[in-house]
Formats: sequence, C-alpha cells, structure tokens
Amino acid sequence: MNLILLGPPGAGKGTQAKRLQDNHGIAQISTGDMLRAEVAAGTPVGKEAKAVMEAGQLVSDDIIVRMLSSRVSQPDCAKGFILDGFPRTVPQAQALDRMLADKKLTLDVVIELKVDDSALIERIAGRFTCAKCGEGYHDSFKPTAKAGVCDACGSTDFTRRADDNRETVVARLDAYHRQTAPILPHYAAQGTLRSVDGMADIDVVAAQIDAILTQVG
Ligand code: AMP
Repeated sequence: MNLILLGPPGAGKGTQAKRLQDNHGIAQISTGDMLRAEVAAGTPVGKEAKAVMEAGQLVSDDIIVRMLSSRVSQPDCAKGFILDGFPRTVPQAQALDRMLADKKLTLDVVIELKVDDSALIERIAGRFTCAKCGEGYHDSFKPTAKAGVCDACGSTDFTRRADDNRETVVARLDAYHRQTAPILPHYAAQGTLRSVDGMADIDVVAAQIDAILTQVG
C-alpha cells in the first residue's frame, strides 16, 4: 500500500503517518524529518535547506526529488510507504508519477486532511516532541501525563522545531495555499484523492483513514 497524506502544516499528517507505520508496517517518509536530519548533520543539503526552512519556504524541487527517489527504494518500504510532506508542488507531483512508473510502483490513495487555517497556528505553536523516542505532544491538546516526562519512554528531554513559531507558520501556510494546494486537482483527476475531516479528534481521524484504506486495499 503506497499512499500520500496531504494537508497544511499542523493538519496532523505526521501523527497519522506514525500510527499507520506502527499499525500497518508501512514506512513513514517525511521529507521534513529527512531535511531536519540533514540540517542537524551539517551536510551540504542541510546547509542549503536550513535558511529556507527557517523562513517557512519550500526547499528546491531538485533536492527533494533526489532525496525521495533513493528513500523509496530502501528495504523498509517493501510493504509500502506513506508520503508525509511530499509532494508539495506540481513539479514534485509530476516527478513522483515518473518515479513510481520507473520503479513499477502504484499510488493507491491520496488522503487530504482538511483543517481550518485559524486552528493551525495554535496547533503548531504548541507542539513539542520527545528528543529520545520522537513521541509528539502539545501544550494544550496533548500534554505529557506527568509534567516534563515523556509518557512513552520516561525521558525528560524534549525539542521544539525551529520553524514552529507564529511568524514562520504564517509563511508555511501561505506556501501551502500557493504551491501545494494546486496539486489537489492533479490527484482528483487521477481518481486517487479522498478527503477526511482533520479537525476531528486524532482517533476519529485515524478511524476515517483506516476506513479508506480498507476500501482501497
Ligand atoms: P514539514 O516537516 O513537512 O512541515 O517540513 C518542514 C519544512 O521542510 C518545510 O516548511 C519546507 O521548508 C521543507 N520541506 C519539507 N518537505 C518539503 C518538500 N516536499 N518540498 C519542499 N520543501 C519541503
């Protein structure tokens, strides 16, 4: 099963992709996580991407497509993959079509998480992650059970993304509407696009996604 989770920043793509990875054994591929790893490692790609990411803009299609192309061929993708944060532009969607055709892979479904812009800034500005196990939290919506301690692994070390601040979020939302939303008609025309209500509770969204996967699987 190969699928795309589409939606603006803060829509819940990463949260849902992680659940799908855990429950269905399909690999989560987050281009944002891959880029953050490149930045942290100080690679040439990371050096080029850092300022662009901090400004809330999109990294060049060339870099992203090259990164993605080698990633989908790795062994953990044998049962399929969930693309989280890719494609984000029409040229990336076209490059993905070519890449899948070359590798004789099919795209089963594209799931759009629909969310109101007004909810996103609050959702994003409160996010934080366990630095050890990667479990995601939110100051208001999903705090840790015990203050300062990860529910999943007990670590007391947490991180917040450099681009999860109000100013950058506005730029990221603008990039979504201008550059990413135009790919929706591409998938609507292919007949692969399905939408779910991303404003619902995390478990309800997960159930909606599971129902779609049962239908298309
Ligand atoms: P994300 O973690 O998906 O919110 O991505 C964080 C940042 O990484 C974005 O704001 C972009 O600067 C960059 N990025 C991630 N994925 C892509 C992509 N597919 N195309 C261009 N830039 C990307």
